Amino acid sequence: MITRNRDLKRLNTLGLEAKALWYAAPHSVDALKEVLKDPAYEGLPVLITGSGSNLLFSGDFNGLLIHPDFNEIKITGEDSDYVYVRAGAGVDWDVFVAWCVDRGWGGLENLSLIPGCVGACPVQNIGAYGSEVGDSIHKVEYVDIKSLKEVTLSAPECRFGYRDSIFKRELKSATVITYVTFRLSKYPVINAGYADVAAELSGVENPGLSDVRRAIIDIRRRKLPDPAVIGNAGSFFKNPVVPEALALSIQRDNPSLKLFAAGSGFSKVPAAWLIEQCGFKGKRFGNVGVHPNQALVLVAYDGATGKELLELSDRIRRAVNEKFGIEIEPEVNII
Ligand SMILES: Cc1cc2nc3c(=O)[nH]c(=O)nc-3n(C[C@H](O)[C@H](O)[C@H](O)COP(=O)(O)OP(=O)(O)OC[C@H]3O[C@@H](n4cnc5c(N)ncnc54)[C@H](O)[C@@H]3O)c2cc1C
Repeated sequence: MITRNRDLKRLNTLGLEAKALWYAAPHSVDALKEVLKDPAYEGLPVLITGSGSNLLFSGDFNGLLIHPDFNEIKITGEDSDYVYVRAGAGVDWDVFVAWCVDRGWGGLENLSLIPGCVGACPVQNIGAYGSEVGDSIHKVEYVDIKSLKEVTLSAPECRFGYRDSIFKRELKSATVITYVTFRLSKYPVINAGYADVAAELSGVENPGLSDVRRAIIDIRRRKLPDPAVIGNAGSFFKNPVVPEALALSIQRDNPSLKLFAAGSGFSKVPAAWLIEQCGFKGKRFGNVGVHPNQALVLVAYDGATGKELLELSDRIRRAVNEKFGIEIEPEVNII
């Protein structure tokens, strides 16, 4: 069913007030194509959403918003080392991670408790605690919004990078991802390289997938604000990748700064550290602010508007640029 003037407040984790002119949640690829070719919506902008956990509505969306509500999970193949599982775009991400961990299939456990739906996971190649989903993706199926062609991309064709993929570049706003097939290891190797994860698992002998999942859920619950309690979209900015010489010169003046390798001649600088150094951590500006425990997370209090958040984002970006000569970019999709 297609609804008009759909209220989006509960369909974005920032909890911003906004409306979509038209809203559809098709349950099959055929139903999706029917909506896309319906002349009633011709010429309107189209936006595809999962759970709205990486979206900032700067105002109403005067177009057709589609939530592909495909909820099947199916094992499609197996070889000596891997199981191949195809999941629909509408499957809740963490429900899917739990489903894989319960079966002892590895690859996604470090990505536990990331909000969202399966269909969005390839878009920014979700990542956390030393894992990126692109490493466990076998293929991605999508429908081209203009031609209605069904296309399948292999993982290399998706060109996954740090919070990046072809779906944020050449195919930006051009596809409806319908299904993602994952390649999951039958003999998983635990990835506890991150200091927080190692510390959380220190008392556990021979940790398994469910121990890693539990550890990560505990860390995330302690560190990140729950969108059900306070509106947020997780990390608002990406960690900037800058020339190593610049990063090292900042580190010389600030020995506490931790840098991460980002390919030859480049370093990744924690955006949270940059924002904190500019004095924004824990500050509130009207109905928006920077979380007191995590400077990378911008929060929206009751009554916040997308415009206020964008103003705060610009203010932070300017301050970081003036102090460190570094451009930080939003990770959140601004609509
Ligand atoms: C508390 C919190 C913690 C978070 N932690 C992390 C983290 O650790 N790591 C991380 O990487 N992210 C994190 N995020 C961001 C977010 O969870 C991910 O980006 C997630 O994949 C977004 O899923 P979604 O279904 O909510 O997508 P949405 O926000 O609805 O959409 C995100 C983007 O994907 C596009 N899109 C969505 N579905 C489809 C589809 N089927 N076809 C084509 N395009 C589509 C949208 O158009 C939009 O551009 C966090 C967010 C929150 C609120």
